[in-house]
Amino acid sequence: MARTVLKFGGTSVGDLDRIANVAEIVKARAAKGEHLAVVVSAMSGETNKLVALAEGAAGKDLPRDLFDDEYDVVVASGEQVTAGLLALALRKRGLKARSWLGWQLRLKTNDSHGKARIMGFDDSRLPDSVDAGEIAVIAGFQGVTDDERVTTLGRGGSDTSAVAVAAALNAKVCDIYTDVDGVYTTDPRIVPKARRIDKISFEEMLEMASLGAKVLQTRSVELAMNHNVPVRVLSSFVKPGEESPGTLVCAEEEIVEKQVVSGVAYSRDEAKVTLYGMPDKPGVSAKIFSALAKAGINVDMIVQANARGPERANMVFTCTDRDSPFAKETLEKMKDEIGFESMDVTRDVSKVSIIGVGMKSHTGVAETMFRALSEKNINIDVISTSEIKISVLIAAPYTELAVRALHTAFGLDAE
Ligand code: ADP
Ligand code: ASP
Ligand code: MG
Repeated sequence: MARTVLKFGGTSVGDLDRIANVAEIVKARAAKGEHLAVVVSAMSGETNKLVALAEGAAGKDLPRDLFDDEYDVVVASGEQVTAGLLALALRKRGLKARSWLGWQLRLKTNDSHGKARIMGFDDSRLPDSVDAGEIAVIAGFQGVTDDERVTTLGRGGSDTSAVAVAAALNAKVCDIYTDVDGVYTTDPRIVPKARRIDKISFEEMLEMASLGAKVLQTRSVELAMNHNVPVRVLSSFVKPGEESPGTLVCAEEEIVEKQVVSGVAYSRDEAKVTLYGMPDKPGVSAKIFSALAKAGINVDMIVQANARGPERANMVFTCTDRDSPFAKETLEKMKDEIGFESMDVTRDVSKVSIIGVGMKSHTGVAETMFRALSEKNINIDVISTSEIKISVLIAAPYTELAVRALHTAFGLDAE
């Protein structure tokens, strides 16, 4: 019998009525004979509250290595509540169901607390339970280390839990139910003219997600691509009989019509760090980026240019806004060792990107992008490109204007 994984995000389980609605969806799927594992997120807003509680208890000065593991214990609890509630709602409807927490699933992760990576499942009893026809209601977002410490997978991590469970169960599909009926050409909340995409390749979805489209967590797409798990994005907010086909995230070969630009993404969680007057000699960049890596800071765009003085250079890089104070602290400690003259951290920036596999074989895409931005008087600060995306860093107040302008310029607006 086919195994299927369903995942319901925070808004879909936001209160008891919403959980009852989810139970009805699950019941209808079970009635089709599917053997189900259902991954749930915390009720909407709960994780934010738990994060604030953990930060409040710790205060400002507690070092990260004394904070992160207990932060995980606190924030993982949101998903535990939903898993229990949905199991109860299913039992109320006469279905066999039980909840599973990360440690009970033996969902093993590394010990990068707050953003742990899944290593695999150790001898889990989950497959037998699902095959026996009991609906597994799984607390998403959480795992356990070899030392039996609770971990979480980073914000939005329940998507990744769902795809990992789907891969482990060899499920035929992983259906991600959320508050929109699919992946859109850009965030439908800021561009009402955004269109639902029928099919999108893993590669494009990976770029969309990592460049800010939070409809799927980036790692979930990475996992789905590596294990070739077809992922569907569907709405939990539609009435039975009115379902939309949603979006299928699948291999590029399965997509006949390839767009030059499939979507526009944005991220406001950006900061720009500039180091002025660094010595222009071998080894300096290595020193900077190895220190940042050791501090667990992910660096994104990097530009280096000659400064006016002799044998001096300026370096610009971006990281998440959340990480920027740590980046600043790390580099300030190394000021003499690196030998830069001054540092500037700008937090009021955002990154806007266009994504499309068709870019590989089309010219003029960058020109269209830059012209559309200049027509709106939007200044481009930093640019980065890959085979299937172009990203620009701009002043944060222009984010929505830029996204809309690019959406129109690349012909993505709905009629
Ligand atoms: P969940 O709580 O179900 O995990 P999220 O809030 O994490 O849901 O993700 C869904 C949201 O992602 C949507 O409400 C939408 O505003 C946002 N979003 C951003 N970019 C896109 C996109 N390209 N397509 C669809 N939704 C998007
Ligand atoms: N509850 C977690 C969060 O808000 C995980 C998730 O929703 O996927 O980030
Ligand atoms: Mg999400």
